[in-house]
Amino acid sequence: MNFDFNDAEQDVIKTARDFAATKVKTRAREIDEKNQFPSDLAREMGRLGFFGQHMPEEYGGTGLGYKSYVLAIEQICAVSMTVGAIIAINALTQESILRFGTAEQKQRYLPALVAGESLSTFAFTEGQTGSDPRAITTTAVPEGDEYVISGEKTFASLAPSASVAAIFAKDDSGRVSAFLVDPGSDGFVIEKELETMGIRGEDVCPVRLDHVRVPRSSLLGEPGQGYNVLLTAINVGQIGIAAEAVGIATGALRMSLDYARNRTVRERPMTELPTIQSLLGEMCARTEAARWLTYRTADLKDKGRLSGKDSATAKLFASQMANEVVDMAMQIHGSYGYTKELEIERLYRDAKVTQIYEVVSEVQRLIIGGSLARESSSLH
Ligand SMILES: Cc1cc2nc3c(=O)[nH]c(=O)nc-3n(C[C@H](O)[C@H](O)[C@H](O)COP(=O)(O)OP(=O)(O)OC[C@H]3O[C@@H](n4cnc5c(N)ncnc54)[C@H](O)[C@@H]3O)c2cc1C
Repeated sequence: MNFDFNDAEQDVIKTARDFAATKVKTRAREIDEKNQFPSDLAREMGRLGFFGQHMPEEYGGTGLGYKSYVLAIEQICAVSMTVGAIIAINALTQESILRFGTAEQKQRYLPALVAGESLSTFAFTEGQTGSDPRAITTTAVPEGDEYVISGEKTFASLAPSASVAAIFAKDDSGRVSAFLVDPGSDGFVIEKELETMGIRGEDVCPVRLDHVRVPRSSLLGEPGQGYNVLLTAINVGQIGIAAEAVGIATGALRMSLDYARNRTVRERPMTELPTIQSLLGEMCARTEAARWLTYRTADLKDKGRLSGKDSATAKLFASQMANEVVDMAMQIHGSYGYTKELEIERLYRDAKVTQIYEVVSEVQRLIIGGSLARESSSLH
């Protein structure tokens, strides 16, 4: 096992940390307040290579792998989860195309998505379900050389900026299939973005598909393979969310240290209080544990050995950790942390979604537990 980063990975950390410090930090509050998608920062992330660490060089990626993908997300999310999460959300469709696309689909979409010249949206969730693929009601009816897609999706992040949408729909056999759809198609309607509690500015929108006609060549993978596409994509998405959680916790720890160093209690720096040191110690230990679990999980993906249980474990643990750590950070900040004057309240709001999106924690536990129950080998 090698716990050291190579030169290229250290470069990714440095580039992402510098980008976060110089370009993102001054914008984080405004993005949250205005619920405004930072399109310029998204383009800049493309130029800096953050959409291509996990993509092969033939599509413009660096081919460095999923470890570099999580390193970039972590550094940026320590400053703004909205900005860092764009990488993980975009990766859902990228991964779907890379693993299931035809040569033509890969050439058509991946270079632009990697370069940040275009973005993608991944629309699985519907009004009645975000957790159960069997309950999807969007349909894709074959008609000649086309499919006609109708239904309503919701919480489609990045939708207004996307030049391609991965849409999950039931075909005539009743099985879920995945399609690559141009959001500019007739009948594709993107509604106004939702007012979310956290990661504001991610352009999370309801989407309506009213008899959208797509050529049969829009099918991603085989008919009925949609569930496989979904699982493959969210395995990568979940590693990204684990990295988002580690980033948020790191940001909360940084803010707490700053605050405690600069505030006095009974004429002594707050950092001298054993209770504050205890909170800082707990936050640090938990963040560090989740960080290395996340790196290891990304490394498994790089080595082609990632299971659904692994990515569920990383996301479950890291998201729980982030919520506990921001809670401790809030305690350190006291009443001022509870106001909009200080930024910790944004992190407190942002952290929650890591336990909800791309498989809720309750289901993650069942995935891990179910897998353990089925495994015949011993644990370690
Ligand atoms: C900011 C944001 C961005 C998002 N971006 C996207 C996106 O880009 N694309 C997309 O498709 N979706 C997106 N989503 C949607 C998100 O992935 C789903 O909402 C999420 O998977 C949960 O689905 P649900 O809301 O239907 O919850 P439900 O499935 O209704 O679950 C609600 C609760 O019921 C319980 N529960 C549900 N099922 C089970 C079970 N099997 N066992 C035990 N308990 C259970 C859990 O307590 C769970 O928390 C986003 C959501 C948010 C908030």
